Amino acid sequence: MAEHHGNGNGSLKTYDDHVPEIKFTKLFINGEFVDSVKGRTFETIDPRNGEVTARVAEGDEEDVDLAVKAARQAFDHGPWPRMPGYQRGRIMLKFADLIDENMDELAALDTIDAGKLFSVGKAQDIPTATKLLRYYAGAADKIHGEVLKMSSELHGYMLREPVGVVGHIIPWNFPTGMFFMKVAPALAAGCTMVMKPAEQTPLSALFSAHLAKKAGVPNGVINVVTGFGPTAGAAISSHMDIDMVSFTGSTEVGRMVMQAAATSNLKQVLLELGGKSPLIVFDDADIDTATDLALACIVYNKGEVCVAGSRVYVQEAIYEVFEKKLVAKAKAWSVGDPFDPNVRQGPQVDKKQFEKILSYIEHGKREGAMLLTGGAPLGTKGYYIQPTIFTNVKEDNVIVKDEIFGPVMSLMKFKTVEEVIKRANDTRYGLAAGILTKNIDLANTVSRSIRAGIIWINCYFAFDNDCPYGGYKMSGFGRDFGLDALHKYLHVKSVVTPVYNSPWL
Ligand code: NAD
Repeated sequence: MAEHHGNGNGSLKTYDDHVPEIKFTKLFINGEFVDSVKGRTFETIDPRNGEVTARVAEGDEEDVDLAVKAARQAFDHGPWPRMPGYQRGRIMLKFADLIDENMDELAALDTIDAGKLFSVGKAQDIPTATKLLRYYAGAADKIHGEVLKMSSELHGYMLREPVGVVGHIIPWNFPTGMFFMKVAPALAAGCTMVMKPAEQTPLSALFSAHLAKKAGVPNGVINVVTGFGPTAGAAISSHMDIDMVSFTGSTEVGRMVMQAAATSNLKQVLLELGGKSPLIVFDDADIDTATDLALACIVYNKGEVCVAGSRVYVQEAIYEVFEKKLVAKAKAWSVGDPFDPNVRQGPQVDKKQFEKILSYIEHGKREGAMLLTGGAPLGTKGYYIQPTIFTNVKEDNVIVKDEIFGPVMSLMKFKTVEEVIKRANDTRYGLAAGILTKNIDLANTVSRSIRAGIIWINCYFAFDNDCPYGGYKMSGFGRDFGLDALHKYLHVKSVVTPVYNSPWL
């Protein structure tokens, strides 16, 4: 039974009637749900209470191999890469409609697997996934090459062709969102694929796979192998018959994936990795909006967001009033059962992540940072943590340098534009940044000076279908979203032929 930890209202209402029936727990290979070759399973845990939700098939190297065989067959001989893009698009549109029809069930699966707010799943995560599927469905019949301007008597043109079999390895923070961020552009391109969801959140990927089949995606095009990173994940990144691996996760594992790709078949790699993004608040910013956004930067999805704005720099003239308002809002933030419509923050994904965040908080205290609010778990069951704000931190403190991936902020004061640009860039990561100011010249100057893949001016977390995002520096390379991502799943092929009277003839 989940407890309600809401700050203030004390309700003990539980939401177990919202827990969906778990229908799919086996691997999805060649259009069928199957046991793993070794017959092993693993537990998936509800972070609201630490209890087992289901046992899921544990795939490893042999299962990945079967999935790759199915994907290879579907790519080399099946209809998907060969059918007109228009037809692929129509199937993808049907898939999107089915996701919409099953919105509640999918959102609930992500709630019991990842601790995500059910209301946000229905309002954002699942609709974003279907929007993305429809965006790429619309692109599927617009993949064309170019006629080349040759410098001699040759006719040249360029084709774009699907890269082949893609291995997708994704994290647990946006289970349905990540699934479609990877699958949608790869489907539009005409690729076939093996998806490995994170071991913490396997359920919505299996559910989505069954909807793909229902929509008419041919067998073998989407395969889902649930299991662990060092076994199933590593088997994907080192597989000789996978043409590309698209990975989202930590920088450490991204490095391993790239190494495995390099030492196997030199497969193409797309890496979306960690971050430690700055939010810069200039003294002309509206303080109420700025404090709302700053808090959202660390509590949205309980801080388990790669682009979380966990380093907040506030210009000195407004610092004191900003700090006061921000802390008051953090104290009033309601944390509790993610099915409760009044709750704004659910539990961390699992015990390991919960303990990791708490140990960073302890580290911060030991380093001499001043705790303004939070800093403790909530309740006796589940993995809930209070929104936590530190100040009096230094740029080289571990809590300022490392990605914590939880609701923990380092709040800092700055004087000049030059100083804040230097400090904002003083990180090994480069995923995102936020700038809050009414001065457009200042916003433009700072946005050009920050080395990060996406800059939000007077907003944050403003993702859009057509807006690519991804990393600079150790946040990785390659982009998700937009036509940029579609092109990652396409090879360029040049075709050249002599023309009449050419010396080649
Ligand atoms: P993780 O790197 O531990 O795991 C990610 C995926 O990799 C999981 O599916 C896991 O099973 C798999 N994996 C683990 N070891 C592997 C190995 N040796 N070979 C192949 N695969 C392996 O990351 P996580 O803890 O699941 O997610 C949190 C991290 O993901 C954070 O660093 C976060 O910033 C990052 N992230 C980045 C983005 C982005 O778009 N840049 C988005 C979300 C999360």
